[in-house]
Amino acid sequence: SASTRTSPPGKILSYEKDSRCLMAQVDDLEEIMPDDELKAEAYRRTILKSFFEWLRNTKQGLPDEQMDQLKQITDPGETADFLSAQLLLTPRQRQDVLEETNVMDRLRLVHHLLDQEIQIGRLEAEINGDVRAKMDKEQQDYYLRQKIKSIHDRLGDSVSQEQEAEDYRKKLKESGIPQEFKAKIGKVIDHLAAMPPMMAETAVARNYLDWIFSLPWNKESQDKLDLKEAKKLLDHDHYGLTKIKERILEYLAVRVLAPDAKAPIICFVGPPGVGKTSLAQSIANAMGRKFARISLGGIHDEAEIRGHRRTYIGAMPGRFIEAIAQAKTKNPLILLDEIDKMSSDYKGDTASAMLEVLDSEQNHKFRDHYVELPVDLSEVLFIASANSMQDIPGPLLDRMEIIEVSSYTENEKFHIAKDHLLAKQFEKNGVADGKLKITDKALRMVISSYTREAGVRSLERQIGEICRKAARRIYEGDEKMIRVTGTNLEDFLGKPKYRPEKKNKKNEVGIVRGLAWTSVGGVTLEIEVNLMPGKGSVVLTGKLGDVMKESAQTGISYIRSISEDYHIDPEFFQKHDIHIHVPEGAVPKDGPSAGITMATAILSAVTGKPVRADVAMTGEITLRGRVLPIGGLKEKLLAAKNAGMKTVCIPKENEQDLAEISEEIVGDMEIIPVEHMDQVIKAAFV
Ligand code: ADP
Repeated sequence: SASTRTSPPGKILSYEKDSRCLMAQVDDLEEIMPDDELKAEAYRRTILKSFFEWLRNTKQGLPDEQMDQLKQITDPGETADFLSAQLLLTPRQRQDVLEETNVMDRLRLVHHLLDQEIQIGRLEAEINGDVRAKMDKEQQDYYLRQKIKSIHDRLGDSVSQEQEAEDYRKKLKESGIPQEFKAKIGKVIDHLAAMPPMMAETAVARNYLDWIFSLPWNKESQDKLDLKEAKKLLDHDHYGLTKIKERILEYLAVRVLAPDAKAPIICFVGPPGVGKTSLAQSIANAMGRKFARISLGGIHDEAEIRGHRRTYIGAMPGRFIEAIAQAKTKNPLILLDEIDKMSSDYKGDTASAMLEVLDSEQNHKFRDHYVELPVDLSEVLFIASANSMQDIPGPLLDRMEIIEVSSYTENEKFHIAKDHLLAKQFEKNGVADGKLKITDKALRMVISSYTREAGVRSLERQIGEICRKAARRIYEGDEKMIRVTGTNLEDFLGKPKYRPEKKNKKNEVGIVRGLAWTSVGGVTLEIEVNLMPGKGSVVLTGKLGDVMKESAQTGISYIRSISEDYHIDPEFFQKHDIHIHVPEGAVPKDGPSAGITMATAILSAVTGKPVRADVAMTGEITLRGRVLPIGGLKEKLLAAKNAGMKTVCIPKENEQDLAEISEEIVGDMEIIPVEHMDQVIKAAFV
């Protein structure tokens, strides 16, 4: 019998078959007794408890006789043996119990077997129960919820979470969330209802639900695409920009004719404040679409685009989901601002994440890590903006149609201010019409002496400043009507901030005007070269980039190579140090376009011959003195003109760009297209 081990256990070594019976050679087995008797006793009681539970569940009884037997067993090992005999075990399992000579291990084994039996018993009961009691699931849920509610009420939670969950359930029903995902959200709501109110998790769930329901799942605006109307709107909002407006209208026309065609993404490229954002806004207005803006400047973490997983504390959706939620329609126009200022780091490749978002084949099921449900971005109209084309990641650039928006001339700025900015700022600052007047002269002074920029952003700010000062004076009752003129402008804006760039008064040795294209538009750069006795080293100062330094070296090499033509002592460069300085270091400067300017300044310094003060130049130089083309011609010419230059050397290859540049900019300046340094030298030296 397996029930007790009244005699010591044994292990059969071999069988011997006699004619009468089966005999066996048996080796006595020593039972390994528990070291800790208390622990063994605890185990004994535990398995007894489990045994009775099992009996109850299976609705089996134990015959009285056996019950008596069980009551008499006090030895843990024996108890284990006895119980295993009562269970419905396989012979193998029973044998395992028998063979276990370590009492503690035997107890554990039986405990484990009992547990399994109890589990099986429970499942059986469940199966039977399911069939029997067909209690309506909803009724059951309702019952449970009421129970939770009463618990919350008793705990005195002010806003019952159940009420909150009920509100969410209503929202879920009314939301346009695709049917197949409703169950998933439903679960989050149920979870919220069941959670203790003070737990951090409830806040997380609530935050998630609020985001989900703030998304416009099926709300969209109707496109209106009336080109005449669109033109009117663009003209109404923006001065000038004729060509750009035409490009926009063409783009819109294509959308009218082929609404489903895969359109490239328009990208406005130009310096700050030239109206890129406001053009995009006008397009949205013209199409009747909602407008949202995503600022990509400084984004370097992929999670900013795709969101953080919800397991992460303080997780948030990415910028796209944010923009969609803000727009409240699924087909807004989204401006991707400063797409050139995105960068990638170890946290993932932002540019490729971006590509996925913009790809119309993939973006109808955009998955944000936070939202987890696919969101359809395929109907969004994306427009991008950038300061410079060079910094837009290549693969993104391929998908875009670039529209360049360049700097404004002083005259254009004047008209923009007069036609648009004044009215805007008057209204914004509550200055009634007729109470404030800014004369044309004052306006032009604001442009030339209080701002230095490619666009009109700080011009707008300065006008705002005037309005605020004026509003205060009117409010304080000193004056009824205020006139801002050239003479009292300083009362409003303080001392002029900028001295207009002017050409030098006289021709000098070693000083040459270059032209640069910076983030604030075109500027003139005065390049100075000084020589001193030394050992042929070169010093460069004035916040120069690497490219500019290399281009200085190239200039020196070129000048050395032609030194014989200018009767310069061949030893000269070994005996002197060259110091090249570019003043006004506030704006970092880089790029190769100062090449010919530096070479000219060096030659002037070395030969001691002065350079004309009214000549400006721009162009990259090669070791052989060839002049290569440059970018930003319009801005550079504008700067030259503002500084009062008479002659400008530009690379021959840029000559074709002149056609695009208005007469107003070129004015009466003499433009000399040059292919080689010889021509530059001829034009520049007195
Ligand atoms: P960007 O996006 O290029 O930095 P914004 O669109 O923000 O520039 O423009 C700055 C301000 O200048 C806006 O108030 C805008 O309406 C105004 N603005 C820019 N260009 C023009 C223009 N051509 N006509 C009228 N207003 C303009």
